[in-house]
Amino acid sequence: MLVVGGGAAGIVAAWRAASLGARVILLEKTPRLGTKISISGGGKCNITHEGTIEDVLKGFRRDEARFLRPAMYRWTNRQMVDLLVARGLKVYTRPDGRIFPVDQTAKDVVAILASLLEEVGVDVRVRTPVTGLVLESGRAAGVRVGEDAFLAPRVVVSTGGSSYPNSGTTGDGWRWAREAGHTIVPVRAALAPIYLKTTEDWAELSGVALRDVVLKARVQGREADRWRGDLLFTHQGLSGPCALEVSRVVAERMIAEEITLAVDLIPDQPSDRFAESLHAQAMAAPKRGARSLIESLLPERLHDRLLADARLPEAPVGQLGRKAINRLAETLKAWPLATVRTVPLEKGEVVAGGVSLAEVDPHSMRSLHCEGLFLCGEVLDVAGRVGGYNLQAAWSTGFVAGETAAKETVEIGTARSS
Ligand SMILES: Cc1cc2nc3c(=O)[nH]c(=O)nc-3n(C[C@H](O)[C@H](O)[C@H](O)COP(=O)(O)OP(=O)(O)OC[C@H]3O[C@@H](n4cnc5c(N)ncnc54)[C@H](O)[C@@H]3O)c2cc1C
Repeated sequence: MLVVGGGAAGIVAAWRAASLGARVILLEKTPRLGTKISISGGGKCNITHEGTIEDVLKGFRRDEARFLRPAMYRWTNRQMVDLLVARGLKVYTRPDGRIFPVDQTAKDVVAILASLLEEVGVDVRVRTPVTGLVLESGRAAGVRVGEDAFLAPRVVVSTGGSSYPNSGTTGDGWRWAREAGHTIVPVRAALAPIYLKTTEDWAELSGVALRDVVLKARVQGREADRWRGDLLFTHQGLSGPCALEVSRVVAERMIAEEITLAVDLIPDQPSDRFAESLHAQAMAAPKRGARSLIESLLPERLHDRLLADARLPEAPVGQLGRKAINRLAETLKAWPLATVRTVPLEKGEVVAGGVSLAEVDPHSMRSLHCEGLFLCGEVLDVAGRVGGYNLQAAWSTGFVAGETAAKETVEIGTARSS
């Protein structure tokens, strides 16, 4: 059988299939396996997420979780970790449940995966860009690589999404799946930075990090999404966990509507209680400047902008008055940022959209439209949160695709296409 794409899903699919005795050729476009795994988790690789499968499924939207459930139970987060640990990887779990290698890097994870393929005799062909499927009477019969064809009755497509195109993922699998009769749910950015309008204003804040704030995305004044965590200002706008987590909803909604963003810088205190505490501080030291009220709350580089946005004069706090202090509290609780300009799809950790989940059997990863075709990993319309969820979706769906494809009759031949 053939596996196209040597990323997380394809490697596990090929390994599982060959472990069951199938002859497997794994075709990878780039010069090496696991190119995207190597850059994952900032080069450390957040392998998966701790917890029960139901916990892991919470990292996905409901329809995605429903689709992933059988595969995740078939090949769990624990089984994936055990596989790597048995080959020498040492892992630890962060307090937020994300599992990483201890001293080793993402490249070590890829090296272990490559050794697994070698152990079970997978024929790995790197620098082999597949150009299309061979379809015969509506069923998959192999793949084309330029003028050549690799023929096999089972083809697993695990070509990933289309973010970070330099890592080899350029959405090729979606084109082939469409030709095979599949619906491709429109592809959008997810887990991506957010670029703001009027970037020249924001560029001066580049590098400022806010810890434990709530970023809210609003459409016509109504909240569309929110995330609590860290937020980072960049030259173009925002990054960090908060920006990444709301980026999917922002990318979806901004097609038709204008999105504004606001930050709650004091998420643990309700607005009125917070205003009272500011007022009490002002009364306790009335001669201090307005800046004294925010000094301990925010990085210094934000002070001028925040005081200006709250329209606070440079006067002793004792002279500011109730209204001005309330205005400061409101600004800190819902600091309006600029309108969203774009969410760059190519810069996302994953893309949302892809092969419609309604057209793939979740128990086998078999295409419901094209016999002999299996689809797994990010090529599917699945996009989880930050935290190891996306790799787990790839490991689990890859395992199931490889297993079911291998259990069907497998014969591989190569031939020159006419
Ligand atoms: C910067 C970054 C950091 C990330 N960090 C994490 C993390 O820490 N934890 C986590 O869970 N997720 C993370 N992700 C997401 C995760 O990497 C992906 O969800 C996962 O790799 C998807 O696996 P996949 O096998 O479906 O696709 P990929 O891993 O992208 O593999 C697809 C493979 O197919 C190959 N291919 C494509 N087209 C062809 C073709 N025509 N012919 C042959 N081969 C082809 C590609 O070269 C590629 O190697 C991160 C993503 C990025 C970009």
